[in-house]
Amino acid sequence: MSLNKTVLNRFLDLEVPDNITQATYVWIDGSGENVRCKTKTVMGAVNGLEDLPEWNFDGSSTGQAEGSNSDVYLKPVRIYRDPFLLGHHKLVLCETYKYNKKPADTNYRFTCAQVMDEAKSEVPWFGMEQEYTLLDKDLHPYGWPKNGFPGPQGPYYCGVGTDKVYGRDIVEAHYRACLYSGVNVSGTNAEVMPAQWEYQVGPCEGITMGDDLWMSRFLLHRVAEDFGVVVTLDPKPIPGDWNGAGCHTNYSTKAMREDNGIVTIEKAITKLAGNHAAHIKAYDPKDGKDNERRLTGHHETSSIHDFSAGVANRGASIRIPRSCAEERKGYLEDRRPASNCDPYKVTEIIVRTTCLS
Ligand code: ADP
Ligand code: MN
Ligand code: MN
Ligand code: MN
Ligand code: MN
Repeated sequence: MSLNKTVLNRFLDLEVPDNITQATYVWIDGSGENVRCKTKTVMGAVNGLEDLPEWNFDGSSTGQAEGSNSDVYLKPVRIYRDPFLLGHHKLVLCETYKYNKKPADTNYRFTCAQVMDEAKSEVPWFGMEQEYTLLDKDLHPYGWPKNGFPGPQGPYYCGVGTDKVYGRDIVEAHYRACLYSGVNVSGTNAEVMPAQWEYQVGPCEGITMGDDLWMSRFLLHRVAEDFGVVVTLDPKPIPGDWNGAGCHTNYSTKAMREDNGIVTIEKAITKLAGNHAAHIKAYDPKDGKDNERRLTGHHETSSIHDFSAGVANRGASIRIPRSCAEERKGYLEDRRPASNCDPYKVTEIIVRTTCLS
């Protein structure tokens, strides 16, 4: 059953005093892949993090603490405009901390921020391609026939038309919501499997990559909620001859972007080759188990067991875009991260391996 949005809008139009801000705190829960939120009334204008109090939640209900010692702290780290409540209301991305003020188990931002700080002089940029799949409320792929499958893959990638793409309204709404909020979204396209889509966030420098990608995921789930549609980030939602979902991570340092940067790109690839297993472990929330279903060596993926690199090769672990090979500078694309990866883990290990080792 859907609620009536016209009725909702009557209430959202009610005036509230200017000095009241509704601040929705958003955090990553104990699964390491789902987001949670709760909203607080903050008195006065919110111009910066200093205007937002620390808060807490019941960690025993999110897989983040025992019931007997259940308070987990929320530390605001980045502020976005709220595309749902509009006006001066805010979305507040938070880090989580345990009762003893140590980072909670799925707070991978903490060490990521330290690494980004250490590597600041390299000016690392990232662009992540978030793939996802829309599902009906019964968790069947959105728009697929209820008793069977759509026609084989081919016409759907970047497709146009009622029989080619399913759920575009959600894609358009989410894109605008990201732009409004301040998430650095850079594009979108329909994917190879019907009901599967992609959007890109970036280029983002350092810790901003993880922040913007997590907030974009919150916005995606929240926008889809308004349409009564479910979003899954599972990296292989439909087994068989259907593409999985990844989160290709494009990466460059200042040296790679400068003339003859290809030399630095190649050095980075050599370092990545020597650290394949550790990267696979960091590229999904289950230490590589989720990616086992996706990185088969088919459907535009490389095998999870082997490292490979190549120009314009979509069957490799690392792809150098053709334009970068021609210009002899630019960036590389790590195609291994799964759609449900934690971007803090992914960007941290890439920088550790290529800049700090
Ligand atoms: P693909 O051809 O793999 O589908 P996309 O166009 O979907 O590529 O995504 C490319 C991503 O690379 C974008 O998010 C973009 O912001 C990012 N990007 C572009 N230049 C750089 C760079 N120099 N460093 C890091 N990321 C970059
Ligand atoms: Mn309560
Ligand atoms: Mn892409
Ligand atoms: Mn894609
Ligand atoms: Mn890609």
